[in-house]
Amino acid sequence: MQTIIEPFRIKSVEPIRMTTRDEREQRLRQAAYNVFQLHSEDVLIDLLTDSGTSAMSSEQWAAMMRGDESYAGSPSFYRFERAIQDIFGFKYVFPTHQGRAAERILFSVMCKAEDVVPSNTHFDTTRANVEFTGARAVDLVIPEGRQPQAVHPFKGNMDVGALARLIAEVGRERIPLCMLTVTNNSGGGQPVSMANIREVSALCRAHGIPLYIDACRFAENAYFIKLREPGYAARAPLEIAREMFSHADGATMSAKKDGLANIGGFIASNDAGVAQQERNLLILTEGFPTYGGLAGRDLEAIAVGLHEALAEDYLLYRITSTTYLGRHIAEQGVPIVQPPGGHAVYIDAAALFPHIPPAELPGQALVVELYREAGIRAVEIGTVMFGRRDPATGAESTASMELVRLAIPRRVYTQSHIDYVVEAILNVHARRAAVRGYRFVEQAPYLRHFTARFAPLE
Ligand SMILES: *Cc1c(COP(=O)(O)O)cnc(C)c1O
Repeated sequence: MQTIIEPFRIKSVEPIRMTTRDEREQRLRQAAYNVFQLHSEDVLIDLLTDSGTSAMSSEQWAAMMRGDESYAGSPSFYRFERAIQDIFGFKYVFPTHQGRAAERILFSVMCKAEDVVPSNTHFDTTRANVEFTGARAVDLVIPEGRQPQAVHPFKGNMDVGALARLIAEVGRERIPLCMLTVTNNSGGGQPVSMANIREVSALCRAHGIPLYIDACRFAENAYFIKLREPGYAARAPLEIAREMFSHADGATMSAKKDGLANIGGFIASNDAGVAQQERNLLILTEGFPTYGGLAGRDLEAIAVGLHEALAEDYLLYRITSTTYLGRHIAEQGVPIVQPPGGHAVYIDAAALFPHIPPAELPGQALVVELYREAGIRAVEIGTVMFGRRDPATGAESTASMELVRLAIPRRVYTQSHIDYVVEAILNVHARRAAVRGYRFVEQAPYLRHFTARFAPLE
């Protein structure tokens, strides 16, 4: 097989700095073993997130120079609007400063207390914004989507039977909209098939429920459909994306993902009445509807980035590089969520460290070891993130899975960087029996993973 190469060459470089093991040990102690507290200059390979960390292309930088900063009616907005209408096909398009702002506006307009909003899996900010309106966010992913080792080509699919039961149970009047997250970020970056989008859409339409797509990784999802779903192999990702959104009534998106931009988002729909209310809320908190909290420069970068994310050679490289990392560690016995997702590889830390119980934070132990070993920053998605301390009793609940996510920034690292990450993980794997757990020294009542302080257990 031919080697799949990075489909770009590099014209501007950003040095990354090697640290010594002693330095890293010191930084870890200063950060109380929480990698969110590290200075990014002390990180060699940063896999904390793929959000807003993409490298922009020369075309995007050129477009930024064309950015027009007029308060109202900027040509940069019209280019942004045209790009979104071309790909997503929605009539009303509003820029927002990032994805969660689009979510807040959408749910403020559509939801009220006692409502229910189903999704395959709500992303954390989506869930929080649904719940902020008093509505309930319900996750209805297929059963395979909840099992790390289960193999299925579209583990992000919605359980359509469960959706039908939910509609029958709570009634159509209490479901103001249905969401589908593509790819399913909180479920391991797993894709949703076209057949599933079509079925969910048909069910929603039969009941008059608008279907919105959380489109953050729409291009990666379109490419998985091309690779895995019968009948799509010869279709261009742009065509597949258009078909995906033809089944929906609207979308929200963080352009920090498949927009290949460092900031931004949007909300789009075909409903004039909803759009009117969204416009009013947008003006209240984000800005005039032709900039929505973004600079004209940002609108330009997104307009170009959305199309670049659909380029076939880019998507081949993107999905191949994530799979490459997953395959090389899995082949050597490192337990991962199978198959690797589009934007990230998830290591099953509970299976890697069977001697560390969930209460001793095996995911946190792996995150610390990856930094100690090689200056790599990953993120714990387990008990640190989802467990809770009962404020009355002090008892700790644990998460259902202890995962560590290695998110791959777009167009940033080369194959040799990824080879280095593979080596580091295998080194930690080789000495796994000697790794010990951690305990909380200090934690905040909400979103504790960002600021918690830890200590190693003896
Ligand atoms: C990142 C993300 C969001 C929120 O977007 P922000 O730009 O971080 O506000 C919403 N949904 C999904 C699936 C995401 O990955």
